[in-house]
Amino acid sequence: MKLSRILSNQNGISRRQANLLLAAGRVRVDGEICRDGGLEISRFREVCIDQELIQRAAPAYYLMLNKPAGYLSATEDPVHPTVMELIEPTLRDHLHIGGRLDRASTGLLILSSDGLWSRRLTEPRVKIPKVYRVTTAYTISPETADRFAEGIWFGYEQLRTSPARLEQMGPTEARLTIYEGRYHQVKRMFHAVGNRITSLHRESMGRLVLDRELAVGNYRPLTSDEISSVF
Ligand code: URA
Repeated sequence: MKLSRILSNQNGISRRQANLLLAAGRVRVDGEICRDGGLEISRFREVCIDQELIQRAAPAYYLMLNKPAGYLSATEDPVHPTVMELIEPTLRDHLHIGGRLDRASTGLLILSSDGLWSRRLTEPRVKIPKVYRVTTAYTISPETADRFAEGIWFGYEQLRTSPARLEQMGPTEARLTIYEGRYHQVKRMFHAVGNRITSLHRESMGRLVLDRELAVGNYRPLTSDEISSVF
């Protein structure tokens, strides 16, 4: 909900008064003065007018999971195990996945209860870099890096992917940085240049980097620095 709406939902505060309070610097969001009434505020943020609490922050969950191969990025599935089965049952109902990985893919998977936050992490227009280590079935051709940098045409969506960066690490190994997260994006990019992915591992999304201490299949809460790096 927009900040001005949260303020004017309170008894006795009109739209006009809300705008005056904002302009006077009397409104704080998570302790910081905020003058933008149009700002979207999730239920996980605290809003005060002077010292008065207007919205208490609901507790939110932000987790990083080291996803093993063979698990679906879904909440439930009749056939395959899902990543939710790796999460403590009491947390499961609160969580959604911020940026899916295919069943065979491994590495960094983010789960959260804060929809606004995870939308920001995954929305293509925000352009958060996502870094993948890939191995391919065939030798990566010399023109692949240029083709990815120019963007690959995705006919189904009628769009060109944002320029991506390919760092070749061996004949069939590379690190690829993309700035969106479209459906099967990495696989489709390699397919477009006549190659095929045989393994795909996500190392990072923006400043969220897969923790080296995290064993495959384990998860941990994000730190407050990691959470705020997404805003
Ligand atoms: N792109 C893919 O094709 N698969 C993934 O799992 C992630 C990105």
